[in-house]
Amino acid sequence: MAEVSGKRSREAAAQPFRPALFLDRDGVLNQDTGFVFRPEDFIWIEGARETIRFFNERDYLVFVVTNQSGVARGLFEERDVLGLHDWINGELAKSGAHVDAFYFCPHHPEAERTAYRKVCECRKPAPGMVRRAMAEWRVAPSRSLLIGDKQRDILAGEAAGISSHLFKGGNLLEMGRSIVETGATKDEANAPDA
Ligand SMILES: [Mg+2]
Repeated sequence: MAEVSGKRSREAAAQPFRPALFLDRDGVLNQDTGFVFRPEDFIWIEGARETIRFFNERDYLVFVVTNQSGVARGLFEERDVLGLHDWINGELAKSGAHVDAFYFCPHHPEAERTAYRKVCECRKPAPGMVRRAMAEWRVAPSRSLLIGDKQRDILAGEAAGISSHLFKGGNLLEMGRSIVETGATKDEANAPDA
């Protein structure tokens, strides 16, 4: 899993608990055309940048949690993933939006590259990346949500105790907004006649 600087974690520890939006990457932020690692192959999903800004403006932390077994398969390097994530945040900045942290899993249990061949805690449906973000940041789980396009995303979110929602295509902002406005995060879902 990618490292997040200790400085950032210490700064976060001084902050109040905040709701978080956990986003899968391929198929949610960008069209899943298969093992995307170059900016020129990154095609934004409609409403994705606007969704991130929408949640930024509501004081959510925004995390990307993404399986990148292309590293284990020898299709690209960890530095390519890091470079693409820097590029994504650069593009988001043009829209006044940002991702607070990216977490990626480079492993695969049957990897070509032995260094990455393992059964890990981070590859979804395991909840390791979601849990790690919650350990490193001040996250309020009951007010948080996850959006993914595969069942393994939903399983990872639910295993970490996060309200999890399957994106089936279309405009991501419409979905994100409707989750917030209909109160489908756990706190609100359990609130009496909210
Ligand atoms: Mg996906």
